Amino acid sequence: MTDIFTTEKRSDIMSRIRSKNTKPEIKLRKALFARGFRYRTNDKRLPGTPDIVLRKYGTIIFVNGCFWHHHPDCKIATTPKTNTEFWQNKIKRNRQRDLENYWKLGEMGWEVIVVWECELSHAHDADVVADKIAERLRRKLSPELPKPYEIPEELEMGIAAEDATEYGKKPQ
Ligand SMILES: [Zn+2]
Repeated sequence: MTDIFTTEKRSDIMSRIRSKNTKPEIKLRKALFARGFRYRTNDKRLPGTPDIVLRKYGTIIFVNGCFWHHHPDCKIATTPKTNTEFWQNKIKRNRQRDLENYWKLGEMGWEVIVVWECELSHAHDADVVADKIAERLRRKLSPELPKPYEIPEELEMGIAAEDATEYGKKPQ
């Protein structure tokens, strides 16, 4: 399994500039779908053809390959030893274009979330990332939801007395 994934990822990196439906992206999409989120994929009408568009939440997700989009301080995002200048320029242009697209989308009112390929490389990563995104999206629709791990002490002490079914219930 590990070997297959590595080979696939490698050929992805070498053969495609802007890879569509890469495995990490599909993993994240499935994980979001399983959490009840519905989205449009690769929407060409929006700057940068975003990978995942969650219209209801005004949120866009790009799943970026670390090499092509230059993930800062990432070990996958190394510059090839041959044709170094060519690659540096190419990746620099990609990065510039990405930032322009994020800016344009921001101007249009979208929130942009960037997920890096390396954040999805292990088996359960997609679930962890999807949980984080889900939390953020739900909060967008219901800003009054209690923040996780930030329960005030007095409330925490009173939890036993609270109606358990009401606790954490999403306000409509
Ligand atoms: Zn990375």
